Amino acid sequence: MDLKKLVRDIKDFPKEGIVFKDITTILKDPEGLCSSIEQMQASLAGLEFDYIVGPESRGFIYGVPLAYNMRKGFLPVRKEGKLPYRTKSKSYTLEYGTATIEMHEDAISPGDRVVIVDDLLATGGTSRAMVELIEEMGGTVEKLVYLIELEFLEGRSILEGYAVDAVMKY
Ligand code: IMP
Repeated sequence: MDLKKLVRDIKDFPKEGIVFKDITTILKDPEGLCSSIEQMQASLAGLEFDYIVGPESRGFIYGVPLAYNMRKGFLPVRKEGKLPYRTKSKSYTLEYGTATIEMHEDAISPGDRVVIVDDLLATGGTSRAMVELIEEMGGTVEKLVYLIELEFLEGRSILEGYAVDAVMKY
């Protein structure tokens, strides 16, 4: 299924000059939702790993069905102050400012193999911060999978050396 026809472009969101890729129009479409999950999952076929890591909020939307289908655990990455237990955090710059992400300090044990899942790769700042957090806890990042990659922002350049895949590229 060609998912690009279900992506809605929102001009000047969240700031003037930015064209935001709205994926709620994929989620609303029963075939689109199913196909987007299946196409991301196809990218993980045959890969050995233990957990899927996904950032709030759209990383949850895609991370959990993939983890469920592949019978893996899911580890949430959240914005500062949202997780209930003790956390490890990482601050980074992103397309629209700065942010801090957190994971529970016991989410990952040394040797755990993880896959990062998110809806969209833009500058790669969010993903880079997740990679660093995971590696500081002793985990290894086996692959990063996205529904959409904005190639013109060159997010892959700060993820060099890692396996990166996206269903749709712009
Ligand atoms: P990055 O850190 O610059 O790669 O930005 C990626 C993060 O910002 C992801 O978690 C995305 O969900 C979000 N994001 C950035 N731009 C867009 C967009 O155009 N549509 C949807 N999400 C976006």
